[in-house]
Formats: sequence, C-alpha cells, structure tokens
Amino acid sequence: MKISNKEKIKKQDTEKKKTNSVNEKRIHSLNKENFKEGPVFYWMSRDQRVDDNWALIYAQQLAISEKKDLAVVFFLSPFFADASFRQYDFMIKGLKEVESKLKELNIPFFLFLGSPIEKANFFLNKFSPGIIVSDFDPLKIKREWREEMAKKAKCSFFEVDAHNIVPCREASSKKEYAAYTIRPKITKMLPEFLTDFPKLKKQRKNNFQNEKIDWEKAYKSLSVDFSVTPVKWIKPGETEAKKILSNFLNKKIKNYSKERNDPNKEAQSNLSPYLHFGQISAQRVAFLVKRKKKENCKDFLEELIIRKELSDNYCFYNDHYDSFDGFPRWAKDSLTKHKKDKREYLYSGKEFENGETHDELWNAAQMEMVKKGKMHGYMRMYWAKKILEWSKSPKEAIKTAIYLNDKYELDGRDSRGYTGIAWSIGGVHDRAWGERLIFGKVRYMSYNGSKGKFNVEKYIKENKH
Ligand SMILES: Cc1cc2nc3c(=O)[nH]c(=O)nc-3n(C[C@H](O)[C@H](O)[C@H](O)COP(=O)(O)OP(=O)(O)OC[C@H]3O[C@@H](n4cnc5c(N)ncnc54)[C@H](O)[C@@H]3O)c2cc1C
Repeated sequence: MKISNKEKIKKQDTEKKKTNSVNEKRIHSLNKENFKEGPVFYWMSRDQRVDDNWALIYAQQLAISEKKDLAVVFFLSPFFADASFRQYDFMIKGLKEVESKLKELNIPFFLFLGSPIEKANFFLNKFSPGIIVSDFDPLKIKREWREEMAKKAKCSFFEVDAHNIVPCREASSKKEYAAYTIRPKITKMLPEFLTDFPKLKKQRKNNFQNEKIDWEKAYKSLSVDFSVTPVKWIKPGETEAKKILSNFLNKKIKNYSKERNDPNKEAQSNLSPYLHFGQISAQRVAFLVKRKKKENCKDFLEELIIRKELSDNYCFYNDHYDSFDGFPRWAKDSLTKHKKDKREYLYSGKEFENGETHDELWNAAQMEMVKKGKMHGYMRMYWAKKILEWSKSPKEAIKTAIYLNDKYELDGRDSRGYTGIAWSIGGVHDRAWGERLIFGKVRYMSYNGSKGKFNVEKYIKENKH
C-alpha cells in the first residue's frame, strides 16, 4: 500500500509528538493539592537513572512550563525487605553515577539518609516543594511510602510509570489471569507507548545550594547483612547497563530462543539487576531490539514485555502477592488437600540456605545464587518447586523462597521475584496439571526432566560449594 507524502508527514509529526512529551496516561495524581510556590522535585525511587526516565522528563517539563527550579531527591532507607550489603552496594554505586550525570545537567541531587516515612517532614519543611513527581512501583511498601508523602505534601504529587512500557494502570484495570489474557491488551497499546525518549535539557542557573553527597556516611547508615558481599562479574550503573545491552544485541540475542533454557550457556541478557534498580529502561531495551529488527527477538520481547509487565500487574492488583493467600483458588484448594502428604525429604531454612539438600543440582543452583547473586532463569523454577516439595507446608515454602531470593539475588525484592515464586509454588498465571503428591495440581518439575534438557553434571561442577 502506497502512503502519500502528506500522510507520511502527518505520521512523522505524530511520532515526534509521542516522543517529545510524556503520554498523560503514564501520569497519575496522588493527591488533590494544587501547584504551589517552590521548586519541582523528582523523588527518584524505583527508576534510578537519568536517561530515558519518563518521571524525570515529566518533572523537567513541569519545571520549564511553570518556570520553577528542578531537583532530584532519593531517600536511602537503612534496610529494605531482606536486601543485604550486596544489593545496597550495587544501588549506591548506581546512584553515584546518577549524581554525576545530573551534575552535568545542572540538576541538583539530594540524598536523605532514612526512609521516606522518617524523612518526609524534614524534606518538606526544608524545601517546600511546589510540585512533587515520583515513579511507579507496585510493591506494598513503596505504595505506602508514596501515599504517606502525598498526604503530607501541601502541593500536587504525581506518580509517573517510568518502569513499564505500557503503564501498569493503563494495561489493565484488574488482576490478569495469565499471560494470554494480558498479552492482547499490551500488544494493542504498544504502538502508542513503545516510542523513543526526548533528551533532558541542561538546567539554567538555579537557586539550590547543594553540597557534595557524603557517600561514606551513606554506607555507614546502612543496617543490613554485611556478610553477603558485592560480586565482581557485573558492574552497576547506567553506563554498564548500556554496555551489557549492546553486547546482548550484537552477540547474544540471535541464540536467545535456542539457548536461554540452558544454564550452562551465557544466553540470557543479564539485564535483570539493571532493570530491577531502574538503571536501564525496559522501553529503551525493547525499542532498540525492535529498531534493529533483530531476528529471533520474539521470545526475548515476550519475557521483557509481557511476562515482566504481567508481574507488575500481579503485585499491583493483589496485596497478597508474597503469600499463600495470593494463589488462585484451584491451587490453594489443591495444595491444602495435599498439605499432610508425607515428604520424603524435609529441610530447615538453614539447610536450604547452606545448600545442604540431598540433590546436587538444587544445591548448585542455591550456590550459584549465593556466590554470583544471579541464578539462571531455568534453575529458578526448579529451585522454588523443590522448596515446596521439601518444606513442611506451602506457606513455609513461599516464605523460605522469598527470604533467600530477596537476600541473595541482585534482582530480588522485585515484582518479578514475587510472581516467579508464586508461579512455581502456587500455580499463579499457570493452569492446573495432573494431580500428584504434595504439589496437588500445581505443575511439577523433576531432576530427570532437567537431565533431558541440559548437561546437569557440568552445571553442578561449576556451581558446587
Ligand atoms: C522462582 C523464580 C524467581 C524469580 N525471581 C526473580 C527476581 O527476583 N527478579 C527478577 O527480575 N526476575 C525473577 N524471576 C524471573 C526470571 O527468572 C528473571 O527475570 C531472569 O532470569 C533474569 O535474567 P535475565 O535478565 O538475564 O533474563 P532474560 O532472559 O535475558 O530476560 C530479559 C528480561 O525479561 C524479564 N523476564 C525474563 N523472564 C521473566 C519471567 N519469567 N517473569 C517476568 N519477567 C521475566 C526480566 O525483566 C529480564 O531481565 C524469577 C523467576 C522464578 C521462576
């Protein structure tokens, strides 16, 4: 079909408009206050990057149109879920890069030591912001933080979904049943949302007086488990994230479909730690994958867009995302029916944590996570399902899995983790399978099944204690 020049120009104009301004469907007002005298603040939380960040872009657009100064604030909570020093170090190093990138743009960056709940009044009194913008996160604690700030703030407070390509609230207004129910909704909206980003503008002189951040003091303020140390194979920050992405696009994506389920192959992107801390935008990743017209990218985009955004949907519309109560009815009934089934092996939390089960493959997966901070995606399913098989009850199993996942995985404490564990242990987003001991109708995975898929001995050798 031929397109006339007029139509071409119209299409280009529409594309330009989409790229240059923030789609209002990303923006959600969290209180009924008006714009007030005072600067615009972007409260950076989930999306810890300067580039390709719709929340920061929106904050800057407001600052320019309202002729206000713009600054960014981050609240460093001394602890968060079961995060340990490993993840905090990854995050803080990423934030240091944020500080220097913002400096180049003349945008001040303030770090408050303490949770947003503790520090809200201090922050509001110190700066009297005229508008606050924050990013979107479906986790309960983050929602509480935002609600609290929105209540206390005497100015407009907006939440901008800078994490999902199709904003979570927009993709669906309810908890979706499975990938097949959310896929058509997201796919239909992708042409509207999967755009390029505008560049941030350098800010003119502003009235802030900000001192250099004392990062040593920030490290000292932490109250976390320091025995889980940083890892060396992956480096934090926006620049590193872009390097990993470029390597994936140039070298790895062509084999992704074929090799991603083989834990002995380096076929996955390794983007999850960066996506988790918001050090890279999923929209940028998908945009580049699509623009390069890479073959074999369908499976990767299914994970990066559909599965990833389905996880946010699960956590946003289900407050029980981290417990047995969140499972679908059929799974809860079936697991309850099999609660008293005899377990051939039963392990304590410590035995799991130390990788001391009878199953060398499971122990290797646990050690991969403990040592590397990132277990292979295929092994995560096997790992969580075996925790169900060898725990006293499904309730105990989900607790153990979340604790270990959040403590050791760089990408833990994320909607992806809670949903992946709920899929494995509680049949979330899955269907009922043939009934069997302990699992009831929840899908089962076996050691022999893995043996048929990849070289189990090699994986064990490489990851054992
Ligand atoms: C029990 C269990 C626990 C999990 N815990 C986490 C977790 O804590 N954090 C986390 O980010 N992911 C988790 N996942 C999902 C998935 O295993 C990881 O996202 C993936 O292995 C990360 O590696 P990658 O970035 O190299 O993945 P790639 O295969 O390169 O995928 C690219 C991106 O797509 C998304 N993605 C891939 N697989 C899934 C999936 N199954 N569900 C949702 N999104 C997906 C992720 O954002 C990922 O970074 C878990 C899955 C299970 C079954």
